[in-house]
Amino acid sequence: MLIYNLTHEELVQFLLENNHKKYRADQIWHWLYQQKVQSFKEMSNLPDDLVSLLEENFKIQALELVLKHISADGTIKALYALHDGHLIESVLMKHHYGNSICVTTQVGCNIGCSFCASGLLKKKRDLNAGEIIAQIIETERLLKERIAYVVVMGIGEPFDNYPNLLKFLSTINHPKGLAIGARHITVSTSGIVPKIKEYAHMGLQVNLAISLHAPNNEIRSKLMKINQAYPVEEVIGAIRYYLSVARRRVTIEYILIDELNDSEAVALELCKVLKGLNVYVNLIPYNEVLEAPYKRSKTETMEKFYDILKKHNIQVTLRKEQGHDINAACGQLRSQHLT
Ligand code: SAH
Ligand code: SF4
Repeated sequence: MLIYNLTHEELVQFLLENNHKKYRADQIWHWLYQQKVQSFKEMSNLPDDLVSLLEENFKIQALELVLKHISADGTIKALYALHDGHLIESVLMKHHYGNSICVTTQVGCNIGCSFCASGLLKKKRDLNAGEIIAQIIETERLLKERIAYVVVMGIGEPFDNYPNLLKFLSTINHPKGLAIGARHITVSTSGIVPKIKEYAHMGLQVNLAISLHAPNNEIRSKLMKINQAYPVEEVIGAIRYYLSVARRRVTIEYILIDELNDSEAVALELCKVLKGLNVYVNLIPYNEVLEAPYKRSKTETMEKFYDILKKHNIQVTLRKEQGHDINAACGQLRSQHLT
C-alpha cells in the first residue's frame, strides 16, 4: 500500500502495533511531506529495522511521469501513469500570489457532461487518497517550488469519491502533512445534492465550488446528465443549506458557451436565481474540445454577461484562462493521448 494513504493517526497505530515509538510518525511525515524523499532509505534518523519494516509494508512511488507540457505562461501539464497503467493528469498554474495545482480524483468520470473531455471517458476507478496527494508531491518535484494552492477540478467528480477526498483534504491540510491552508483549497462538484449537505457539516474551511453552468433545467439538462437527478432548484437548495450550516461563501462556476447559456436573458435569469445568496460567480471561457459540438462565447458576449451580473450586485469574475495552448481544460491531454 501507498504510504501516503495513511493518516497520521493510522501511522501512529501501525508503529505502536509494531513496537515502535509514536514520535517516529512525526519523523516519517517530515521526510514524506517536508523533505519529499523518494525512498525510505533516505529517512536517515530512523533505525534500520524501522526502515526495513516500512519497505516491507509500504510503497512510496505512486506516479510515473509520462508527458510534460509547458506553455508560454508557465502552466505545466503533467500526464502521470498510475501503478496499474491508468493515465491521469495534473495542471500546475503560476499566479502572482503563488503556485496552484489542479488535481485529478478519478480515472474518467461517470457524470458525463456533454461539454467535458473527462466525461467522455467512463470512470475506470477511483483514485485513493495517496494517489491524489502524490500528484502534489510529484509536481512540486518537477517544479522545484512549493505549491501553496490546490483546486480539486481535474478529471473526476470528487463527491463521487467522498471518503478518499476527505482523507486527502485532511493530510494536505495537516500541519505535519503538506500544511496547505484550508482557505487555499477549493473542491469543485457538479452538484451531488446529498453530498453537498453532508459536506456542510464537516466543519471544513475548504472552499466549495459548484458547477452550475445554467440557471434553468432546460439548458442545464443539455449540458449535464446529472441535472435529471439533481435539478437546478435542488442544487440551489443545497447551496442555501450549505450557506446556513457552513457559513462560508460558495463559488458558482459558469462556463460560457456560444449561443447556449450566454444570452442577456439567461444572465438576467441567473441573477434572479442567485439573488440574496452569498455566492461568487466565476465565469469561465469554454475551452473547445474536439469531441463536443460547442463553441466558446464571443469576447463581447462574455463581457456583456459579466456586466449584467455586476449591475445586479452579484460578485463575479471573468476567469483569465491559462494554459490554453496546451489544452489545460480538464481531461484533454489524457483523452488526446488515448486516441
Ligand atoms: N467534476 C467536478 C470537478 C472537475 S471539472 C465538476 O464538474 O465540478 C472542473 C470544472 O471544469 C467544472 O466547472 C467543469 O465544468 C469545467 N470544465 C470541464 N470541461 C471544460 C472545458 N472544456 N472548458 C472549460 N471548463 C471546463
Ligand atoms: Fe465529470 Fe466534472 Fe467533467 Fe462533468 S465537468 S464530466 S462532472 S469532470
